[in-house]
Amino acid sequence: MKRVLVFLITIMAITACNKNPFLQKWDNEYAFPPFDKIKTTDYAPAVKAGIAQQEAELKAIIDNKETPTFENVIAAYELSGDILSKVNGVLFNLAESDATKEILDVVDTLTPVLTEHEDNIFMNKDFYNKVAAVFADSASLDREQYMVTKKLYNSFVRNGVALDDAGQAKMREINKQLAILAQKFGNNLLAENNAFEKEIGVPVSSYPTFMTTCTDRAKREAAFKAYSSRGNHDNANDNKAVLLEIMKLRTQKAALLGFDNSADFILADKMAHDAKTVDTFLASIMGPAVGKAKEEVVAMQKIMDEDIKAGAVEAGAKIQPWDWAYYAEKVRKAQYDLDENQTKPYFRLENVRNGVFKAAEKLYGVHITSVSGLPVYNPEVKTFRLTNADGSLVGIFMADYLPRSIKRGGAWMTNFREQYVDAEGNDVRPIIANVCSLGQPDDSLHLLTIDEVQTVFHEFGHALHGFLTKCRYKDVSGTNVARDFVETFSQFNENWAFQPEILATYAFNGDGQVIPDSLVVKINNSLKFNQGFMTSELCAASILDMKWHELTSDTDWANFDVAAFESKVCKDMGLIDEIIPRYKSTYFNHIFNSGYNAGYYSYLWAEVLDKDAFEYFVQKGIFNPEVAKSFKETFLEKGGSEEPMTLYRQFRGADPDPAALLRARGLIQ
Ligand SMILES: [Zn+2]
Repeated sequence: MKRVLVFLITIMAITACNKNPFLQKWDNEYAFPPFDKIKTTDYAPAVKAGIAQQEAELKAIIDNKETPTFENVIAAYELSGDILSKVNGVLFNLAESDATKEILDVVDTLTPVLTEHEDNIFMNKDFYNKVAAVFADSASLDREQYMVTKKLYNSFVRNGVALDDAGQAKMREINKQLAILAQKFGNNLLAENNAFEKEIGVPVSSYPTFMTTCTDRAKREAAFKAYSSRGNHDNANDNKAVLLEIMKLRTQKAALLGFDNSADFILADKMAHDAKTVDTFLASIMGPAVGKAKEEVVAMQKIMDEDIKAGAVEAGAKIQPWDWAYYAEKVRKAQYDLDENQTKPYFRLENVRNGVFKAAEKLYGVHITSVSGLPVYNPEVKTFRLTNADGSLVGIFMADYLPRSIKRGGAWMTNFREQYVDAEGNDVRPIIANVCSLGQPDDSLHLLTIDEVQTVFHEFGHALHGFLTKCRYKDVSGTNVARDFVETFSQFNENWAFQPEILATYAFNGDGQVIPDSLVVKINNSLKFNQGFMTSELCAASILDMKWHELTSDTDWANFDVAAFESKVCKDMGLIDEIIPRYKSTYFNHIFNSGYNAGYYSYLWAEVLDKDAFEYFVQKGIFNPEVAKSFKETFLEKGGSEEPMTLYRQFRGADPDPAALLRARGLIQ
């Protein structure tokens, strides 16, 4: 009887296992994730099985007695971990877009397990030695193979695999402390944000609107002071000591790996390559940006002077940081006369989405059609099929555009499946989602603001980067490129949003009338509004980020004065008193808690390529088929299979002109 029971339990366990969708072949149409069959209880056993699978695959690579080659080391690794790719693709996407309590609990439980698995791979010296052997003999590799090998090799080195045991132990300790401190920085900021809301009466997310609309100057001043001093109140939530400790450890980590400062370590595998290059780049933007901002102050002061005359503001008052948004809005109304209530009826979400598709069809020759019947993770998700002119599949697009209480704020593109060539030589096409929270919850037509229209184009630009890619290896396909390159195609795609030819295909109001030319002109003019300020505060934050990460290990951290450092950095960069960096150090979450350290410049950096490329399109005709074909085939399709600048030169026949960014923002003529 007992034996029968054991037998029965084993059978049941196998059956349960077989029903786990992650452990089965997804043989539905497009091998689409079977969201309708996935249960919360499937993740943990799938991760366990996935880790076991990849460990076995790695063991086979390491135990192979043949001479290490690209195929038996790098390509074999690229194809490993199939189960984990499936589980992670679903789990970590849902944790952002459809984050039920159950999913978040699963993520909490599985994250440490998966982190440990990753550490086990990238601290494995036997595996590293094989990768290093292939990298050392890279002359026989083609460019894509070389780029994949280099990327994998760098992942090891940057994790400290080449250090001796004491060095590795120190590295592990630094990483552990850094993770704790980053969390602490974020928690302190959260508490300070709540304190701000309590004091001022509006949440931090509404601060920009408050500063634009609040007519009471004293209240604006109080709000500005509370906002810009978050994390700097010498209380339990003060972030000064936390960020200094973070910087100290980051500098130590860079030194362990042979770098003078953290910025040079971070940048070594980025497009910009070193801190000096980024500094020079940012300085070239700061001058014209501040120049324009000074003109903007003059225009605002004129309006303020009228308020002084009318007795609404005290005599002798000058524009202060807390006046900027309020008076800029008055200038905008006077100079641009743009009322979004007039434009919104033409920007119905569904129509805007069609416009984005039309632009892609016109430029890159893809066809985009709706597909029904795929088992989506939420009924609000719409699915589309992208095909080439010959009918072959480009990929599956999931549009998840509406706000939900269990969706993270913001907008992003994500892959549920990357593009790659499988072991049988099949080109596996990607499944990509754009996730946003567009429109107002009480508006069933989902009428979008100008900013939201740009967001739809931006995120689909990332999607196109992922869709059109033609690579062989996952690690370099699509958007798997350097952080300071990845915003290029998304920002580039925004250029098409308000082109009259594209607007004519999508911007219809409820009566089917296309947006009038007068509004199109107003929209396009207003895109250059307040750019002196916007560029200055963005560039100032980027420079502040760089200056922190250029500090060296001989810095006297114990006696470091954060405020004095910050004001010296702002003075040296030529920032005017009316503007502060978009983020000050004690609430600069991007660089102290979310991976943008020595990386906040990336948006501006990528914008140079985007604007230079767009100027070229304008010169040759924005729908010039030869230019679009060359852009697609020499640049957009290539992912990380070649250095970005090499790809760009192949397309453009020249280096990008940094002034293209300044022209596009209206900072120079
Ligand atoms: Zn983006």
